[in-house]
Amino acid sequence: MNFYSLPDFQNHEQVSFFYEKESGLKAIVAIHSTTLGPALGGLRMWPYATDEEALVDVLRLSQGMTYKAAAAGLKLGGGKAVIIADPKKDKSDYLFRAFGKAVHSLGGRYITAEDVGTDVHDMETIRMETPFVTGVDRDHGGSGNPAPFTAYGTFMGLKAGVERKLGVTTTKGLTVAIQGMGNVGWELAKLLIDEGARIVATDIDDGRLEQAKAELGVHSVVKPNEIYSVDCDVFAPCALGAVINDETVEILKAKVIAGSSNNQLKEHRHGEILDKLGILYVPDYVLNAGGLINVYTELGVYSRTRSLRFCKKIYHNCNKVFDISERDGIPSFLAADRMAQERVEHFGRMKAHFNVYDREAFDKRKDI
Ligand code: NAD
Repeated sequence: MNFYSLPDFQNHEQVSFFYEKESGLKAIVAIHSTTLGPALGGLRMWPYATDEEALVDVLRLSQGMTYKAAAAGLKLGGGKAVIIADPKKDKSDYLFRAFGKAVHSLGGRYITAEDVGTDVHDMETIRMETPFVTGVDRDHGGSGNPAPFTAYGTFMGLKAGVERKLGVTTTKGLTVAIQGMGNVGWELAKLLIDEGARIVATDIDDGRLEQAKAELGVHSVVKPNEIYSVDCDVFAPCALGAVINDETVEILKAKVIAGSSNNQLKEHRHGEILDKLGILYVPDYVLNAGGLINVYTELGVYSRTRSLRFCKKIYHNCNKVFDISERDGIPSFLAADRMAQERVEHFGRMKAHFNVYDREAFDKRKDI
């Protein structure tokens, strides 16, 4: 394989392969950039069909983390890790402690966190071997469940979107169609209902929808495939990626798209189509950075208030994206990348102080 010429290589600083015989660990850690700070990104555990598939995935995801951290204004670089194994049957303490040792050998250049296939318990096992892990339990000095922070950041980005597109400073009286009433969708609905918005919701789990009607006061529910054509002001995808595609762009009635899902645009051209249709797309990775902000806050002494205050800045970050979009005459999804690139270049030239995490605070966290 011609590794350096892979399209996803994108000038990664470091890519490390780890193998440990006893535990069966096969892992790749990709550090895309440490220009703004240590590379933080989740650990994905997945039974990739080939090693090449795992490599391409980790390279793509780690570059995305550089952009996400930069767009959020954090002193963090971008990285990601994958363990090639099946989370349903291959998990063991042995495996995660071996991975913890691998992370520790990178000396803090990479900090790990939860992602698809891993959870807070796995992070705590990793924590036995290295302090360079975030997203541990509240009881151990960690930041706990990130979903309420992701939802709050999404709410702030959504408000920036409706202000820009509809000229309103509140969601009161607006209709928001939420796809997915899971951890984030539920919290987002709560915030919107509190402000006076009207929610139309969908989920593949009917029980969850009934609960949302009874407990949250969601106005109405629709079948999963009906959510795209709901007559609404805002469409908030909070379930799946690639939901803006050839089929859905045709039927969307929303004027603003603002939700927490990752990789909402199936292809770049769908972002261009939205732009041409006059639908304001609030870029997903700028909007959904609340979870990252929350684990970032954990790198010092964790404070929920500080984390929420930081998440509030997502409102301003989204406005900057819209300004760049107008300044340069480009769709918002490209403007988000431009803002992230500009921040990396600008702060890179400043050679900002690298050591974002407070090692003493890390060590004061309760031992596991
Ligand atoms: P979740 O698994 O708790 O909720 C997802 C919900 O979507 C579930 O209720 C599920 O039943 C529903 N769903 C699945 N397929 C659906 C479909 N076809 N139509 C309608 N509903 C469907 O996940 P979450 O933590 O709420 O995250 C939501 C999205 O936001 C995900 O894409 C996730 O990657 C992204 N995200 C989450 C966080 C976070 O902090 N949790 C951070 C960043 C991004």
